[in-house]
Amino acid sequence: MKKKLPYNFINIIKPSLRRTAGGMLISPDRGDILLCFTTGNYFNEGHKERLMIYLDNGISVFSGRQYHCDPRRCARDSVNLVSHAHFDHVPSSFNGSVICSEITGAVAGERTGTRLQVAECADVEMLDSGHVPGSTMFLIRGERQVLYTGDLCTRTKYFSPGAKPVKAHTLVIESTFGRDKYVFPPTGETVKSMRDWAEDNAAKDLHSVIYAYTFGKAQEVLAAMSGFDLYATVPIIKMNSILTRFGHSFGARPVPDEPAGPAVIVSSSAGRNDPKVKKYLAAGARTASVSGWAVDAGHRYAARVDTAFPLSDHADYDELMEFTRQVGPEVVYTFHGSDKQLARDIREKLGIEASALRKGHLTLSHFM
Ligand SMILES: [Zn+2]
Ligand SMILES: [Zn+2]
Repeated sequence: MKKKLPYNFINIIKPSLRRTAGGMLISPDRGDILLCFTTGNYFNEGHKERLMIYLDNGISVFSGRQYHCDPRRCARDSVNLVSHAHFDHVPSSFNGSVICSEITGAVAGERTGTRLQVAECADVEMLDSGHVPGSTMFLIRGERQVLYTGDLCTRTKYFSPGAKPVKAHTLVIESTFGRDKYVFPPTGETVKSMRDWAEDNAAKDLHSVIYAYTFGKAQEVLAAMSGFDLYATVPIIKMNSILTRFGHSFGARPVPDEPAGPAVIVSSSAGRNDPKVKKYLAAGARTASVSGWAVDAGHRYAARVDTAFPLSDHADYDELMEFTRQVGPEVVYTFHGSDKQLARDIREKLGIEASALRKGHLTLSHFM
């Protein structure tokens, strides 16, 4: 068992108390007591090498200094790390600079209407997370290396060879598809079925409308469908033009006003209300959704589409387990989706200490 903290540096407090200016809420790994540094003395007493990981304004890592991974708001006195430009990872306000890739800076800046100050940090190594263009994992250096994955994908994509594991003491890993039922077929197979489906539709003189998220998934679909007569809705065309600045090209044109010969149209699901897309739907277009959730039998009905293809920008269960095994950490924290299930399987199948990060349940990683 880990040694308890020296008592004079802590006060035992109620979980409802918020973090104080110089202090911090912490609980041991299994969360039996919640502790608070009210003075910050502990860090001044030469304990700055200690490592703490907890949920508070994104995922916070204290490792000699304060890091916030995908913070909700950028904190001026901390190192703010933004993994990628999906809305659930982009801060609502930017104070000072953020550590992110140039693509993330450009896309997030465009989406939030902010001019981002993109910086680098000597203590943080940026690695490809393979999720969407520009997505980054962060390896925080210190006495104990922490690898924060953000959203992760280890499969080859048009923009990435997939995330590659690196050795770390502590792994903070996403667990969106962290259940053993979420194992995706090989990408090549899924892409072939999607192309066959569009060809069959065209043979019947029908349009194909594919619903895919504006940033990341839409471009993946466009890359997979190259060679078809490809069209995309305005938000996707705008996103493509940002990515074109970084060397990607997608060959999709804006949706024509009037449907002509069979076309393949890529649209976000909100695009089904786009007046132009509506004309294609009214002309009997077949519809598809593209998502890892397509593995669930009910997805097609929930998404109100004719068919669904399990093409994901996240790692599946087997890939999350294999990635964890290759990182070889001493301790793992999971977040998003099936976090508890993945933590349990990492403990039971890989024999590595693991738990799910929980709001208001702060975690101390190998404190003593
Ligand atoms: Zn994402
Ligand atoms: Zn996410």
